[in-house]
Amino acid sequence: MKSFRIYYSRGLRVKIDDITILLDPKSSTASRADLVLVTHAHQDHAGGYIFSSLRSLVVSSKITKSIVEKITRRRALNVKTIQENKQIDFGKFSVYALNAGHVMGSLQYIIEFPDLTLCYTGDINLVDTITEKRASIPEGVDVLIIESTYGSEDFVFPPRSEIYSSILEWVEYQVNRGEIVVLGGYALGKGQELTALLKEILDKIAVSRKVFFYNRIFEKERFSLENYVPLESSEGRKLVQSGGVVVVPHLELRKHTPYTISRRLGLSKVPKVAVCTGWAAASSRFYAIKRAFNVDMLFPLSSHADVEQLLSFVDEVRPRLVYTVHGFSRRLAKLIRQRLGIKARRVFDARQQTLTRYVKNL
Ligand SMILES: [Zn+2]
Repeated sequence: MKSFRIYYSRGLRVKIDDITILLDPKSSTASRADLVLVTHAHQDHAGGYIFSSLRSLVVSSKITKSIVEKITRRRALNVKTIQENKQIDFGKFSVYALNAGHVMGSLQYIIEFPDLTLCYTGDINLVDTITEKRASIPEGVDVLIIESTYGSEDFVFPPRSEIYSSILEWVEYQVNRGEIVVLGGYALGKGQELTALLKEILDKIAVSRKVFFYNRIFEKERFSLENYVPLESSEGRKLVQSGGVVVVPHLELRKHTPYTISRRLGLSKVPKVAVCTGWAAASSRFYAIKRAFNVDMLFPLSSHADVEQLLSFVDEVRPRLVYTVHGFSRRLAKLIRQRLGIKARRVFDARQQTLTRYVKNL
């Protein structure tokens, strides 16, 4: 190997000698790559999947491919699907896939050259949840490219079981008072986690169209939920007339008051609204974030790792060099250098969102 570069150019790119690998293309990109790796189906990682597959070979899990094709209603042309703990050999290098624990179908990739091994985590979650198994720990990695969405000391999540209990207690309290409860989270990931969690206390809940779409895929791939109906159905409407729970994508709640949410969702009265987001773990900013979200409650339920989990992951992997991407990339790189004594730097992404900007944009 003579040269190695990592940079942004219509997506995150790794260039090793004359080979260019594009990681998680966010949007349609005109330039081709020798290989495109897509870690999971969230829009900010798979937005360029279909377009990239017209020009380059794309590798992803079967679930990610199927979700992208269903959402875009287009076929991905040039794709090789890969399973967890399996390898594809490309001659000059090979690609090995590991579970990322983030959402269904999410993978990390180990790219192995004869004299250099890289790992790209994509988004990772490092604890077991009721719907996902925690991310695997890659071995023998020289260069680790790790997400840093919550890579600041502000973000330390409580144990999953505590978060689950507080969500269930709050929902039960509201439902017993005859309130309608609206719970928001990403449609892919938290939508299924919340649906599965609510089985503990409710026989049936209503879900929005998008959550319904992902729940059906989840049931085919993982395990059966059977406790949800579409909000738009007559059963769904009846369910939330006198008090009940609706799970919706939290992005659909943005810029809305509980009053306008009740009108948008066709509810009979103003609901109690809670959003599940890792941002809620920033205790010093909890009330500012809650006000910005304009909701009754926030829960720090996230499909990402918090800062301490990210640091112990890096410590276990023990690479020679770390690149941080997304969110608090500069901060996490500094913490890795200071606390672990491992060389780390960020790959600057002009589109990353700081907490202040995120709150302002709501
Ligand atoms: Zn994601």
